[in-house]
Amino acid sequence: MKIVFTFIICLSFVYAKAQRCGTPEYIKQNISIFTSPATPATAETEGRDTLPNEVIVVPVVIHVLYHNNNENISDQQVLSQLKVLNNDYRRLNADTVNTPAPFKSIAADARIVFCLAKVDPNGKYTTGIIHKYTNTDLFLSDDEMKFSSSGGDDAWDSKKYLNIWVCNLFGRTLGYGVMPGGPADRDGVVIQYDVFGTTGNVTAPFNKGRTATHEIGHWLGLRHLWGDAECGDDGIADTPPQQTNNSGCPSFPHLSNCSINSYGDMFMNFMDFTDDGCMNMFTQDQKIEMRSLFAKGNVRNSFLNSTVCDSSNAQGAPLPTDTLTNNISLSVYPNPFSTQITITSNTLVDIIGKTVKLYDVTGKLFVVQKINSQKTSIIMVTHLPAGIYFLKLEGANETPKIFKLIKQENSF
Ligand SMILES: [Zn+2]
Repeated sequence: MKIVFTFIICLSFVYAKAQRCGTPEYIKQNISIFTSPATPATAETEGRDTLPNEVIVVPVVIHVLYHNNNENISDQQVLSQLKVLNNDYRRLNADTVNTPAPFKSIAADARIVFCLAKVDPNGKYTTGIIHKYTNTDLFLSDDEMKFSSSGGDDAWDSKKYLNIWVCNLFGRTLGYGVMPGGPADRDGVVIQYDVFGTTGNVTAPFNKGRTATHEIGHWLGLRHLWGDAECGDDGIADTPPQQTNNSGCPSFPHLSNCSINSYGDMFMNFMDFTDDGCMNMFTQDQKIEMRSLFAKGNVRNSFLNSTVCDSSNAQGAPLPTDTLTNNISLSVYPNPFSTQITITSNTLVDIIGKTVKLYDVTGKLFVVQKINSQKTSIIMVTHLPAGIYFLKLEGANETPKIFKLIKQENSF
């Protein structure tokens, strides 16, 4: 009995340690660099206005920063998060049935969707997902993950891309976001790697991708329902006042000292602190607040003109960079190629001794070559006919890595 009791105490301690959202502390610590959302420092004065019922498209780039393989979450896990966002911000989430009847009429489809970027800041094709090794094993909520110079990865142009950094945060802070109007190189949200998405390395009760839904709510100008003060105000008319944050999953109705009616807290709102499985709605006025940021003259207006999710704007074929397994970061370029292909290991992991094979689409083998240089190996391929090829990198006792490449017509 004593052992069980101790175990329960330890378990509660572990849960108590998870900090649902670090945004208020982050803003407090960095107040000097943030201006009021009403007077954004980066307001747009040009560009078109939003259309009344327009579905607003927000291109995103995901910076996955990992110190060990566990933190190097899969592209599939990233995609599962995108799916959650596109459900929650369109009220297509399956758990809308759990919205209590009195709140159903004010639950909103925000008509905002998110797409992985297809064009990088240099105009090249991208998957929108960056995997990058870092020497930092735990990040504080101090923005170091947002700069390559401090072990992170630099933001892409925050007028065109929503930057999402996924990393290991100290003290089990699940995430933090910036409010609109901050510096461009810090703009975006940061999410703990094991609460991002719904598959792969996710940990209950934060395994339904709602941390990102919540933090992006901050990026779109929303505050916590209780205004981060006892019975405080979030500036949104149709979210009822509540005394403080909720956690776990209360049963409806949950009343507090400042409830204005018998319906009590809107603990199922994405901007409360409840478990992922407990949240399921934004309100109509939260929708109006978020969409107002995209209006002409406001801080997110430039996103209406962002075309970086359209792959037809990318130069060249898909670049097979960022294929990372076991801390090996490989670049294979150029793509398309004509006279040579270069293979580079971006880390200090040894690639010497591995074998490169080049096949065409029928499986015909054209080139076999051993890599004999720590960093780079060049394959002479000038004689090959134009078309699609597969480059296979093989090492002993490991899964081969395959890259799709395009051979251009030679222009001599
Ligand atoms: Zn928050």
